[in-house]
Amino acid sequence: MTLFDKAKKYIPGGVNSPVRAFAAVGGHPIFAKYGKGHNIVDENNDAYIDFISSWGPMILGHGKDELIEKAKGYLEEGLTFGLPTKVEVEIAEFLSKAFDTDMVRMVNSGTEATMSAIRLARGFTNKSKIIKFEGCYHGHSDGLLVKSGSGSLTFNVPTSAGVPENVIKDTLICKYNDIESVKKTIKENKDDVAAIILEPIAGNMGVVPIDIDFVKALRKISDENGIILIFDEVITAFRLKFGSISTELGVKPDMFCFGKIVGGGMPVGGFAGRREIMEKLSPMGPVYQAGTLSGSPFIMKMGLDVLRILKENPDIYQRLEKYAQMLEEGFNDNLKATGVKACVTRYKSMMSLFFGDFDEIRSFDDVSKADLDNYSKYFNFMKNSKILMPPSQFEAIFMSDALDESVINYTIEENKKALEYIKEN
Ligand code: PMP
Repeated sequence: MTLFDKAKKYIPGGVNSPVRAFAAVGGHPIFAKYGKGHNIVDENNDAYIDFISSWGPMILGHGKDELIEKAKGYLEEGLTFGLPTKVEVEIAEFLSKAFDTDMVRMVNSGTEATMSAIRLARGFTNKSKIIKFEGCYHGHSDGLLVKSGSGSLTFNVPTSAGVPENVIKDTLICKYNDIESVKKTIKENKDDVAAIILEPIAGNMGVVPIDIDFVKALRKISDENGIILIFDEVITAFRLKFGSISTELGVKPDMFCFGKIVGGGMPVGGFAGRREIMEKLSPMGPVYQAGTLSGSPFIMKMGLDVLRILKENPDIYQRLEKYAQMLEEGFNDNLKATGVKACVTRYKSMMSLFFGDFDEIRSFDDVSKADLDNYSKYFNFMKNSKILMPPSQFEAIFMSDALDESVINYTIEENKKALEYIKEN
């Protein structure tokens, strides 16, 4: 019995999070044994170059010696007390400054972060509806597992069984990078919209960068209608630059959600915002939110160490940009040389390679046209070359500082061979 067979016997689908089953690319997952630097070594002792980075958190690569040493000390200090600790104050101050906002509450996952931020936005505004965008993912809480019904912006259907239709009736779906869809929805739901939530660079339909005009218009329409603008930066915070990408976009949201990198590889989430909003949270205000392990001192210490490294070493972001630029250029040269139809989308160290004949990629409608068979061929060719690309067309490549130019060059060479293979098959 293979390990995957045994896993499937005891764990639904053999995995604790669906994308790990590699179902979209043939269904043969890699079981990671350990990671070091840019490599993941699997249970067969094969080493793979890691472009998944645990879906974003491992921005410094795996098994960094200085962090391992510190973690050993933190273990000895104790894991969790159910009492406030000094490091929670330190990380709250650090994150408030990094996001240029007032207050922070920590939770245990990105799902909890967005779920709680939305409850708070509703409690603050005394309004019930929220706007989210097709193709953006904000975790798996009921009210956010919604896709738009066929062609309609107002009739929604749950993305998952088990989500009652009355739970999602207050979730309105608009089109990413399409301000007209937002204006229409707000007009139809005048005075009822509490919040607009979005990924400021979309990463969960593959990478789809945002139009600056669109995000500026979201800020304006939110201000005009008393709507809380929430940036879900679970992926983007500290990945694209130190802190929030909002400073680069020139638009400041009312609230930020974060996770992934902030936990340094440990489970974490959190949300931050202006004092007048955040003070509505329990125990100060009427909006309830809690967590037995929230702000776990061990995780806060681990996370803060990573954040401090990122703050003190801006050259990390320069290196990530260099690697990403090399990959983008290399992939584009290879596409030209082989004539395979595909499109590279990139925002700093997040990128995707969409197979298909695209004029532009700006929305979920666009990415839906991708050629999934070719992506599967591509993924498996790269996997055989011991390069781990995301096991779905609709996920992002995440780079880490543990990569180096020779690894990037090897990846570009293998990408060319993969494209040649796709052309012939
Ligand atoms: N928001 C975004 C933008 C995400 O990418 C994710 C997870 N990929 C989440 C929320 C949910 O985070 P978690 O998986 O930690 O619950």
